[in-house]
Amino acid sequence: MSDNFGPIAGGIIFDNLRDKNVIVMAANIRFVPGITKGIFRAAKDANAPLLIESAKSECNLDGGYTGYTPKTFADAIINTANEVGFKNWGLHADHIGVKTGDEKEIEDVKKLILAQIEAGFTSFAIDASHIFNFEGKTTLEELSGNLKATKELADFIDTECKKRGLENYGLEVEVGEIGRKDDGGFVVTTVDEAVTFIHELNKQNVFPHAIAIANGSAHGNIYKDGVQVNQVSIDIPQTKKIAEALEKEGFNTRIAQHGITGTPLELIASLFPKGDIIKGNVGTHWQNVVYDVLKVFEPELYNKMRAWVLKNHSIEGKSDEEIFGKGAKFALKEFFDELHGISNETKHAMEAKAYSDALMFFRAFGTK
Ligand SMILES: [Zn+2]
Repeated sequence: MSDNFGPIAGGIIFDNLRDKNVIVMAANIRFVPGITKGIFRAAKDANAPLLIESAKSECNLDGGYTGYTPKTFADAIINTANEVGFKNWGLHADHIGVKTGDEKEIEDVKKLILAQIEAGFTSFAIDASHIFNFEGKTTLEELSGNLKATKELADFIDTECKKRGLENYGLEVEVGEIGRKDDGGFVVTTVDEAVTFIHELNKQNVFPHAIAIANGSAHGNIYKDGVQVNQVSIDIPQTKKIAEALEKEGFNTRIAQHGITGTPLELIASLFPKGDIIKGNVGTHWQNVVYDVLKVFEPELYNKMRAWVLKNHSIEGKSDEEIFGKGAKFALKEFFDELHGISNETKHAMEAKAYSDALMFFRAFGTK
C-alpha cells in the first residue's frame, strides 16, 4: 500500500496551530477497527488537524492493556489513513511515563521510544511528573528529578529522530501529576512551576511544543456515588494564567489538556481557551463508543467482557457501573482476538458513531 498518507512530523502540526484558536484533537485509540476510520473521515471532512496517540500503559513492547505494540498499532493506523486518504495527522506517543527516573527504568523507556520511532511515531510526550521532590526548598529543587529525566529522554528522542531524518518531531512534557488529589481536592500546577520547568528545559536546549499540567481534570470516566457524571472540574482561569505566563516569557510552549472525556462539548466550545490550549486529549470516550456499540450489536461478547471486568478488576465498595467503567480498558487485551473478529456491521456502526462524535469534537475544539 502506498505510504503517501503516513504521519507528518508532530512539530509541523504544533507550529502551524500555535496561537491560532484551534485545539488539535489527540485521540487515544484503544481499539483500531471502525473507530479510527470514523475519526479520520471526520477529520478529512472537517479539514481538522489530528493526532492519533497511545500511551505507554496502553501500547508498549508487551502489548500494554490494549494488546497493541508500537509497530502493530502504527501499521494499523497508517493503513487506515491510506484507506481514507487523509494527510493532516501525526502519530503521538502519549504518557511515556517515568516514575522513579532510576537507570534501569530510563533504559527500558528508551527501548520503548526506539520502537515507537522505528514504528513511525512523529511526536512524543515525556511524563516524569511523578518525580516530585516534596522536600525541595525551591520550585527548581522540587522539579529537579522531573527535569533530569525529561532532559535525558528529550535528548535521546532528538538524537534518534534526527538519525532517521525526522527533524521537526513533536515534543510534550508534563509538570504536575494529572488527577492527583490531596485533602483540599485536585492539586493544580502553579504558574511558577510551569514557567520554571519550561525555562530550565529551554536553557538546556529542550524546546517542548506542549506542556501537560495538572488543572483539575482526571483521566477516564468519572463517577460520583457510583454513577457516571460529567467532567466539569477543569480550572480554566488557572489554565489561562499559565498559558499567558508562558507566552509572556516568549516560550513556544502551549498547554496540552488531558482527561477531556466526559466534558460537555458546549463547555469545551464556549470556555476552553483555544490557542492557550493547543492539544486536547480524548481517550476513554472512544473506548466508550466501542462498548456502546458492542452492547447492541454483539451483546454476547459485551456481556462476557463485562463479567470478566467485574470478576477480575472489582473495587471494594464500588458499584458495578463504576467498576466496569474504570476497568473496561483491561478487557481489550484479554478479548483481543474476539474483538478483532467482530462483524463488518458492528465495525460500521462504530465507524458511524466515531465519525459523528469526532465532528462534534472538532467543532468544539475550534476547527473551521
Ligand atoms: Zn493523559
